[in-house]
Amino acid sequence: MKHESIKKIGIVGAGVMGHGIVQVVARSGYEVLLVDISEEILKKALELIESGPFGLRRLVEKGKMSEEELKACMSRIKISTSYNDFKDCDFIIEAIPEIVELKKKVFSQLDKICKPEAIFATNTSGIMVSELASAVERKDKFIGMHWFNPAPVMRLIEIVRGPLTSDETFEITVELSKKFGKIPIEAKDGPGFFTTRFINSWLAEAIRLFEIGIAGIKEIDDMCKLAFGFPMGPFELMDLIGLDTVYHIAEYIYNETKDEHYSPPITLKKLVLSGYLGKKPNSRGGWYDYYKIKK
Ligand code: NAD
Repeated sequence: MKHESIKKIGIVGAGVMGHGIVQVVARSGYEVLLVDISEEILKKALELIESGPFGLRRLVEKGKMSEEELKACMSRIKISTSYNDFKDCDFIIEAIPEIVELKKKVFSQLDKICKPEAIFATNTSGIMVSELASAVERKDKFIGMHWFNPAPVMRLIEIVRGPLTSDETFEITVELSKKFGKIPIEAKDGPGFFTTRFINSWLAEAIRLFEIGIAGIKEIDDMCKLAFGFPMGPFELMDLIGLDTVYHIAEYIYNETKDEHYSPPITLKKLVLSGYLGKKPNSRGGWYDYYKIKK
């Protein structure tokens, strides 16, 4: 199979990442099917794709897209709550929560429904591709395709092969990433790959320095921006990523490596258990809300 044969792309999970990925894929001219567990979540995702902070309407307002193009792009996106509708998809991108057993269960179900030649790509932030591929028969057609947040803006896609991923699957995924306007870079399989292992150490370190009273949340964010020119500080970044996602990643990398350096900080766990998940829907807010800090 060649990347030109990929016509219809399926996305599982319409959350922070899923809706952004759908937007990029539809904008690149592909038919897209987006599946999540409820109609309400799917409708919210469509609203964000059209009118959210990184949505298509913003491009129309900036004169980078016509109203007709926006309508054509939206019309390429179909939604469903049934995996059965993935039957005719050529390439599936999974973007459901960072929980090993959940992802494996869903991949095993998809393996029975999807056509045998369909490729499965996981947007996991750091669960080993070998681990997730163990849930499917098509191990040669299984690959890590790690996007960044916000998906319509960030240029990198970190591509991770499992030991059994075929060259064909790798090449198709690289070519598709380019079609989506992204820059694919390969990293080896291992907990957190490169980007997540790197960024999670930095996020956890910022929380630990806050916990021992070295500086406050806003002060740490401001110092990172003013000293290093970062576009946002670590606490702002965690609010954007989703605190539950940061927590699940830390827990996974720590469990795999047993290196204390990666262990999830207590304060992070406390916020997640209290429903402070960052900016995502159904969240009480993020770090600034929990500690009642003015931005
Ligand atoms: P999220 O919580 O915002 O969204 C997950 C979505 O999956 C939700 O809409 C949920 O309803 C849906 N879902 C849950 N179970 C499902 C099921 N069985 N079938 C279909 N849909 C289901 O999470 P997210 O931030 O979009 O993260 C998704 C994946 O992307 C995770 O693996 C995460 O580690 C990874 N990731 C996240 C970021 C980030 O910045 N948030 C960046 C890169 C990669």
